Amino acid sequence: MSLKYDLHSHSTVSDGTLTPAQLVHLAADAGVNVLALTDHDNVSGIGQARMAARERDISIVPGVEISVSWNGHTVHVLGLNIDPDAPILCAGLERLCDYRQWRAREIGRRLAKKGIEGAYEGACEEATGALVGRLHFARFLVQRGHARDVKEVFRKFLVSGNPGYVSGEWASLEEALGWIGDAGGMAVIAHPARYNMTRGKLRRLIGEFRELGGRGLEVVSGSHSKDEYFTMARHASDFGLLASAGSDFHGPENPWINLGQLPDLPPGCEPVWNHF
Ligand code: AMP
Ligand code: MN
Ligand code: MN
Ligand code: MN
Repeated sequence: MSLKYDLHSHSTVSDGTLTPAQLVHLAADAGVNVLALTDHDNVSGIGQARMAARERDISIVPGVEISVSWNGHTVHVLGLNIDPDAPILCAGLERLCDYRQWRAREIGRRLAKKGIEGAYEGACEEATGALVGRLHFARFLVQRGHARDVKEVFRKFLVSGNPGYVSGEWASLEEALGWIGDAGGMAVIAHPARYNMTRGKLRRLIGEFRELGGRGLEVVSGSHSKDEYFTMARHASDFGLLASAGSDFHGPENPWINLGQLPDLPPGCEPVWNHF
């Protein structure tokens, strides 16, 4: 019987709503055999996830989703099968978390100028973990009735050109790949179809990523359409990259992305998990 892999998920350590242990139990209930915990810029949930996995028939791939600034875009690079204690990785992630802290206050200040008070404090309350992200602001703003749902908050407040958007000062692509390499992991471009890039620009990103030692593309993602699976599989094969699959699960309140329900990789893909 083939194993069920889900190599992209979030816990309360970043912007997910389940603790690492709750996430592992839910994934095991859903029949996932191999789960990567890939919190944003943070590896502090991996110990708890591993502990919970001991009680169940599931393996944990230690991971991280690193925020990268590349030619004016924010790109997410997954590090899979990393050593979460690797010093160069840890130092790099600490820098990104410091930037996040500053950015969260800045988003709060900008929203206050638009008459929305208390957003920084509200987002911190939503964030029970080590990291405050835009999704925490989004949840707070929905609660306060500034938008109907999280998608609308992003559109109205939190994307480029809006009051709650601060352009990123994240890692460079080279840094992120260096940190992942130093931690013995494999770098995978997360949800490559989500970057609002032209086909040419996306291929330039993939080419640079490959040159710098990147290994894979997330072909099957909770945020990709079926057509996009095939387009991304094509890019992976053109560049000799491995293919990954991950739900990008953030919690059970987003029922459109479920754990354990990912389709198979398109034919011709070489799965990243064959190379762990
Ligand atoms: P950050 O890394 O703090 O800038 O926040 C990025 C996170 O916000 C992503 O990982 C998603 O969880 C969430 N996000 C981004 N865009 C959207 C959107 N349009 N709708 C819902 N969530 C989003
Ligand atoms: Mn997220
Ligand atoms: Mn992402
Ligand atoms: Mn993610």
